[in-house]
Parts: sequence; structure tokens; C-alpha cells
Amino acid sequence: MGEGGEVDEVGPPLCFTVLTLFPQLIAGYVGEGVLGRALTRGLARVETVDVRDFTTDRYRTVDDVPFGGGAGMVMKPEPIAAAIESVGPVDRRVLVTPDGRPFTQADAVAWSGLGSIVLVCGRYEGIDQRVRDTLIDDEISIGDYVLSGGELAALVVIDATLRLVPGVLGNAESAQHESFSDGLLEHPHFTRPAVWRDLPVPPVLLSGHHARIDAWRRRQSLRHTARVRPDLLARAPLTEAERRDLLDLTSGDEETDR
Ligand code: SAH
Repeated sequence: MGEGGEVDEVGPPLCFTVLTLFPQLIAGYVGEGVLGRALTRGLARVETVDVRDFTTDRYRTVDDVPFGGGAGMVMKPEPIAAAIESVGPVDRRVLVTPDGRPFTQADAVAWSGLGSIVLVCGRYEGIDQRVRDTLIDDEISIGDYVLSGGELAALVVIDATLRLVPGVLGNAESAQHESFSDGLLEHPHFTRPAVWRDLPVPPVLLSGHHARIDAWRRRQSLRHTARVRPDLLARAPLTEAERRDLLDLTSGDEETDR
């Protein structure tokens, strides 16, 4: 579908509801760029719920000391539970947490086809385990590091997912050949000028020969993945010839063509 074109309507647009103590962090990011435009055009929705609105004491307390002692505070169960339940039934209730399973492009693809997803953002040491056990369907991490809050993780999930919703990206093609879509990292990109600071772009890209360009890009993609993410390569579907080419690479026959 082209820029600004009509979308074939298939049910209501995907709605993310983010439960957070800092709704403005979410609103700011999703209001700009490709996502901002998609939301304005009604291709998806991103709503926020301020967990603090579900406190009942005069200090609007959302955290408390951990049972068993130790450093840091824990998010109290009652406000989060009330916030989750205020959203009503949804397809998926997801907690973002560093001890969750890794979020991947495959999740983004799957979730882009859902109707409604709640994302719960922790702060402090995280949320009371009983909320996780009873009100959460899925727990995902965006990587092996610890953030001070779940908002960036929620934005990562929203961004990666919504750009796969039909019509969100200007060019429907561009989501198809990206890194991870075929289990590999993407090939390098070049644009004009054809020579910049004495550096020419690879001549094959100027050849107009699409089969040769595709073959070059595939090879670059394989080699780059082998160097940077050998773990991905082990799982990627490769031909016999491609496996052999990569063996040459690891045995030192590498051309310096990247
Ligand atoms: N004590 C926790 C870390 C809490 S960090 C632990 O050691 O596992 C505070 C909040 O930030 C978490 O509740 C979670 O919502 C969010 N967060 C931090 N790192 C994250 C990551 N890598 N992926 C997803 N969410 C993360």
C-alpha cells in the first residue's frame, strides 16, 4: 500500500494500553514520526493509564518496603491490579521486566495481528509477585540490562509492533526484508553520492542488474550475521552453498568487501 493510501479494513485497529506512573513518557514518543502519523490516521491506538490514579490513600502511595527486607521499594499490588482491571478484557496482558523471556521480531509480528494489548510498566524493584501470578499473561524483556522503569521497554514493544501494522510504514515493502525478518541481519545501505570522501559505493549496486544485486545483498547479509551474530546464523535457513561460503569465511578466505 502506498503512502496515504486506504487500508483494507480488518476489524478494529490494534490498541495498546500502557499502565505507568509516567504517562507523558509514552505520549511524547508515540506522538512523533511514523507512529504519530499512524495514530492520527486511526491505524492504531496507544492509550495510557496512570497507575497513581488507582491509589486510595491521601499520599497516593504506589510503593512499599519489601517483605523479607533488602534494598529498594516494591510496587504495591492494589493500585496496579485496579488499573489492570479498569481496562477490561484484552487479548494479552504483558509485563515488561528484565527477568522476562526475550522480546523478538517474531513477537512483534504476532502481536501486530492482535486487537488489544495491555503493557504494565514497573518502577523501583518491580511489582508484587502476586500480581504477576494472577493478572499477567506474558512477561517479556527487551534485553540483558536493567532500566529504571518499564516505559522504554513498553515503547520498544509498541514501536516494533505497530510498524508492522498494514499502512503504518509508508512503503509496505520496507518491513519485509529487514534484519531478523529472514533470521539474518540486513545488508548494508548506500545512497547518493556514488563517491563520498573518495569512498565509492559497491559497483554492483550501480549495475541495474537486480538478480546480481539480490545475490550480493544476500551474501553481505550472511557474512555480516556470521561476524556479528553467529547465534542467529545457527538457526537461520541457509542453502548448502551458503553454508560452504561461510565456512570459507571463518577459515580466513574472506574478501574485504564490506
Ligand atoms: N529488580 C528488578 C529490576 C527492576 S527495574 C530485577 O532485578 O529484575 C524496574 C522496572 O523497569 C521493571 O519492573 C521493569 O518494568 C523495567 N525494566 C527494567 N529493565 C528492563 C528490561 N531489560 N526489559 C523490560 N523491562 C525492564
